[in-house]
Amino acid sequence: MRKQIVAGNWKMNKTESETIQLINELKQQDLNSEVEVFIAPTYVNLSAAVKSTTSSEIRIAAQNMHQSASGAYTGEISAGMLQDIGVEHVILGHSERRAYFGETDELLKEKVKAALEAGLGVIFCFGEELEERKSDTHFDVVKQQLSTALFDLDATQWPQIVLAYEPVWAIGTGETASPEQAQEMHAFIRSLIREHYDYACADGVSILYGGSVKPANATEIFAQADVDGGLIGGASLQAEDFAAIVNGF
Ligand code: PEP
Repeated sequence: MRKQIVAGNWKMNKTESETIQLINELKQQDLNSEVEVFIAPTYVNLSAAVKSTTSSEIRIAAQNMHQSASGAYTGEISAGMLQDIGVEHVILGHSERRAYFGETDELLKEKVKAALEAGLGVIFCFGEELEERKSDTHFDVVKQQLSTALFDLDATQWPQIVLAYEPVWAIGTGETASPEQAQEMHAFIRSLIREHYDYACADGVSILYGGSVKPANATEIFAQADVDGGLIGGASLQAEDFAAIVNGF
């Protein structure tokens, strides 16, 4: 059975004390124990977050990392550094990294490889822009993103991968893909993996939906056969809302 996962991407929000406070609020929530819960605070608060969650089921992810193991890359952080402080997963390919920091699928392929080599799990984000959906090229776009960044991986590496389909037009906009649109794309993604690898690989990978998920729409989206959870931005910054989404299964 595939893992049900809800991950909160905190983006560039929360100081250290606010991070600890929000984690403490989350720990007080009654969270569905069947669901794996990740939160992704900013780099500088990752250590504090790891320490604050040791006695809980909440797991910590980073929001990005560099593809090299070490060296003259001022301002950057490696997979090994994340792993060393107890971070288990890293979000790669978020649309904001693609749009504002020029990350391409070729670069993401290198980042994914480096993360997996360091023993990190990867939450890999991808999804089409509004224009691409309007011009009916969204399936081609997603296929290209996945093929370039992930399809060189060996089947044995796929258990370390979580996919997060995030249509760019639905991120932070309040506009959500309909449950049918999400299911249609998730089923397509799974069929691509089945074609490229096999049934076991395709059926084992958790595919999250991201884009304006809230307590009010989580249950309907998570009820879709190929939706295994969500990557949550805005609503992950409120403990009650995030808990309601986790409990939306
Ligand atoms: C995100 O940034 O990954 C995201 C899904 O944001 P929001 O939930 O705010 O749309």
